[in-house]
Amino acid sequence: MNKIAVIGAGTMGNGIAHVFAQKGFRVSLIDVSPDALNKGLSAITKNLDRMLAKEKITTEDKEKTLANIQGFSSLEAGVADAELIIEAATENVAIKLNIFRELDKITIPEAILASNTSSISITQIAAVTKRPDKVIGMHFMNPVPVMKLVEIIKGYSTSDTVTSQVIQLSKTLDKIPVEVNDYPGFIANRILMPMINEAIISLFEGVAGVMEIDNVMKLGMSHPMGPLQLADFIGLDVCLSILNVLHDGFGNPKYAPCPLLVNMVMAGNLGIKSGTGFYEYTPGSKDLKVAPSFR
Ligand code: NAD
Repeated sequence: MNKIAVIGAGTMGNGIAHVFAQKGFRVSLIDVSPDALNKGLSAITKNLDRMLAKEKITTEDKEKTLANIQGFSSLEAGVADAELIIEAATENVAIKLNIFRELDKITIPEAILASNTSSISITQIAAVTKRPDKVIGMHFMNPVPVMKLVEIIKGYSTSDTVTSQVIQLSKTLDKIPVEVNDYPGFIANRILMPMINEAIISLFEGVAGVMEIDNVMKLGMSHPMGPLQLADFIGLDVCLSILNVLHDGFGNPKYAPCPLLVNMVMAGNLGIKSGTGFYEYTPGSKDLKVAPSFR
């Protein structure tokens, strides 16, 4: 396999394009928004510059990686000849179903269609194509160039051959693939999101403050980030939407999102991306400051 296409040049898409290009694959990076595409391409350059400064790569590696990536704003031009397409567009069912319907028509018939979705059913996505055996989840973790795990999600109809091809491919990227079946939240978010939700419920009920909750999990459980800081990092809107998928998918009240999380999302306090969540973020500063509403 040599030619890959990545759809969506945001946080995840540009990271996925980066790791494939660095391993010598030719990569098309596609985004509907020209601005997002430019931002994605410059994020890759910035990340390579950081690796160069730390002497993890050479100038030649950087140049070769960038030469392997081509940006596109049209899906059709970008996916032509691609043997694997990884969709990393916005987490929205309608958007993803439209993309896969289109991909099924315009890609070569043997192409594998993967999604980096955090929570949307791979089986549901596969069902809108005529090749559900070739549709699979490749759930990379953020930041993609740093994190080793790729959760490989086998949909109801995904073939064993495609699953082992994608597992092998993930290994060539120096990632560690873990195979899971397609149920709400897969494994990563099925376990992570209830923990984050419980941390928010503890704050909501006044059991402890923001810093205290995070410190218990950092110091007591050796988590590199506390659950509230991690929620800010992921985006509170993303956490809420994954909890809703778990809640709807299992029909179990234990997954009901905490009302405080719902309120924060409605207020637009989404964590790092909006500047405020459980903490307050000032560009350029690494100090953790609890947000005014929780002081
Ligand atoms: P993002 O908002 O940073 O980027 C999404 C990009 O998709 C945007 O640039 C948008 O312009 C583009 N886009 C939207 N519709 C498109 C279309 N029809 N065709 C082409 N491009 C389109 O989002 P993200 O955080 O990179 O998330 C992308 C996917 O990865 C989601 O499914 C998300 O659940 C998943 N994911 C995110 C994380 C994370 O920590 N952010 C981790 C694992 C998985």
